[in-house]
Amino acid sequence: MVEEYGLYINGKWAESTGEKFFDVTNPANGEVLARFPSGTVEDVHRALEAAKEAFPPWKRTPPAKRGEVVLRAAQILRQRKDELGKLLARENGKIVAEARGEVQEAIDFFEYIAGEGRRLLGETVATELPDKFAMTVRLPVGIAGLITPWNFPIAIPSWKIGAALVSGCTIVFKPASGTPILGARLVSALEDAGLPPGVLNMVTGSGSVVGQEIANHPLVSVISFTGGVDTGKQVYSCGAARLANVGLELGGKNPIILLEDADQDLAMEGILFAAFGTAGQRCTACSRLILHKKIYDEFLDDLVEETEALKVGDPLDPSVDVGPVKGKEQEEKILRYIEIGKEEKAKLLCGGHKLTGDGYDLGHYISPTIFEAKPDMRIAKEEIFGPVLSVLKAGSYEEAVRIANDVEYGLSSSIYTKNVNIAFRAIQDIESGITYINAPTIGAEVQLPFGGVKNTGSGAREAGTTAIDEFTEIKSVYVDYSGRLQKAQITE
Ligand code: NAP
Repeated sequence: MVEEYGLYINGKWAESTGEKFFDVTNPANGEVLARFPSGTVEDVHRALEAAKEAFPPWKRTPPAKRGEVVLRAAQILRQRKDELGKLLARENGKIVAEARGEVQEAIDFFEYIAGEGRRLLGETVATELPDKFAMTVRLPVGIAGLITPWNFPIAIPSWKIGAALVSGCTIVFKPASGTPILGARLVSALEDAGLPPGVLNMVTGSGSVVGQEIANHPLVSVISFTGGVDTGKQVYSCGAARLANVGLELGGKNPIILLEDADQDLAMEGILFAAFGTAGQRCTACSRLILHKKIYDEFLDDLVEETEALKVGDPLDPSVDVGPVKGKEQEEKILRYIEIGKEEKAKLLCGGHKLTGDGYDLGHYISPTIFEAKPDMRIAKEEIFGPVLSVLKAGSYEEAVRIANDVEYGLSSSIYTKNVNIAFRAIQDIESGITYINAPTIGAEVQLPFGGVKNTGSGAREAGTTAIDEFTEIKSVYVDYSGRLQKAQITE
């Protein structure tokens, strides 16, 4: 059955002022799952008006009370985890174990950030004058415009929405058009948890209409965007034009460095999981394996064998390792990059094609692909966002790090080694927001900051202790209880 959704404005599921709709399809088999309104600029304005009205009372609501609503939503999500996990697998195509893991991530983050309502820490600071007190307090930035991608349809919205709510912001949220169902279900959980009308509004529709208007509108004080670099640059320039706060979480080209002394069995499992889990469509997916020359041939032979043994298929089948990629556009982009790899004379070791035949024809399946590449090839430099791994040879730790850093991105990275000195050097040397030691590039936990360096992002880190930085302004407060005018810095 095709579910019909509306926009969510001022506490009600509402119709769009326009007449267009779009379908959400299952990438495994083309089944239409849901229909959503293609929101208009006018819809964004309605949502912003609701968020503006709701802001003063939400700002005055004690942060602990704001956190309680988020905690109740976490409990509701937990009750719905099974249903949401399966729905996510059908909407996005990631295998059901990973889909359930993503729902769990939203629950974890809501639980974590709810507690922040009892902290929202400021500082007390010494002053240079007698009978004077100095401190900082955190206040909500205002209306937050949240724009999210299709690859984590509930976890990424939960990071942004949870942190913005506890910080006291009101919200206009635009989920990705490929996967708005889980975003809508997240909104439902918050509605059922008792979130007051207008505090959270959702407008679905195209990025160039709805997203662009959110990014441009002067009522939006902070834009928090996750998506591709090109879109991120556009959003950044919209925010810059009116000096809005902009947080950007963008692409990655994440390396795993495997040194000759590493536990190779451990590394093998990690590489398969990081490169081909979620069909390589994680911002933190490993798309470059930098392999030490001493173990290169032997490890690569084993890696190809293990990769060829991965089962690709229906994400709801628990025996499947790799699901489909998200839709025709993704499929075409990935296949184009595979052609580019062949043209630049990278050596194709396995995969490299669309899967066809029984169980595959109605969906978008690409066989897990490995290329032997050179660091300056496009497939080794650009984000492909699919099940395609470039393997690069390095003669030393230093060369491996040089290769790892020689890309425009810097999100996640990993090194496998038993040498503790090298491991600690790598933490300093690799240019990325996250480094794993003896673990793959994926697996972030909600209580640590998440984000990247270089073209992977700008602005505050999401999640962890820094989650609220994006959505709060710090005010410095001086309380002078001397009863006379005291002049800082002026002694005469
Ligand atoms: P995308 O095409 O950039 O889209 C992201 C969001 O922006 C979608 O909601 C999209 O709407 C919207 N959008 C499109 N054009 C816009 C515009 N002109 N103004 C405002 N919003 C606009 O990215 P994607 O394909 O969904 O996601 C994949 C990318 O996200 C990859 O590069 C991946 O690395 C990155 N990512 C990064 C992180 C991180 O934390 N660093 C996490 C996950 C994903 P429509 O869906 O309607 O087009």
